[in-house]
Amino acid sequence: MQTQQYSLLLIKNQKADTVKKQCKMCGKVTIFTDTTIRRHNANGKNIYQFAIYKCLKNHSWNKKLDIYKSFTNHVDPATLVPSEFKPIAEGEKISLSLSDHESYEINITGADGSFRLDRTLADHIEGWSRTEIAQRIKSGTILLNNRLTKPSQKLAVHDKISIIIKK
Ligand SMILES: [Zn+2]
Repeated sequence: MQTQQYSLLLIKNQKADTVKKQCKMCGKVTIFTDTTIRRHNANGKNIYQFAIYKCLKNHSWNKKLDIYKSFTNHVDPATLVPSEFKPIAEGEKISLSLSDHESYEINITGADGSFRLDRTLADHIEGWSRTEIAQRIKSGTILLNNRLTKPSQKLAVHDKISIIIKK
């Protein structure tokens, strides 16, 4: 089965974080804005989380956020999001089409606030109403961490939402 994998960072009342710093590409001090895209890179036993910032001319800067020690901090590296996952931007809606993939996975890379499963999916999936999503959750074609759940379930970091498209 072909699965398209996405990552989603949930932030309430989002105000873009900015940092003033030297841009090597611009050759001067400029303002970098947090794109809210997060990446994880492994280096030996450590896993680093980076925030991707962009300057006014769109040059990237990776701000190091956290270091997870694979074994000491109870973080299972398998639950972290590989960089090849496609990030869903704030306000973006993805379209799920059967011709491309049979199933979809959305990995929650952060949840700053309270987010319901059904509301979050309605906010990010093109053409699916919250009622339709609630029905899919009840019928088990939308799973949370491979289990049946309820539409009002709150999302947390490292949650995995699976969406199976019925033929
Ligand atoms: Zn720049």
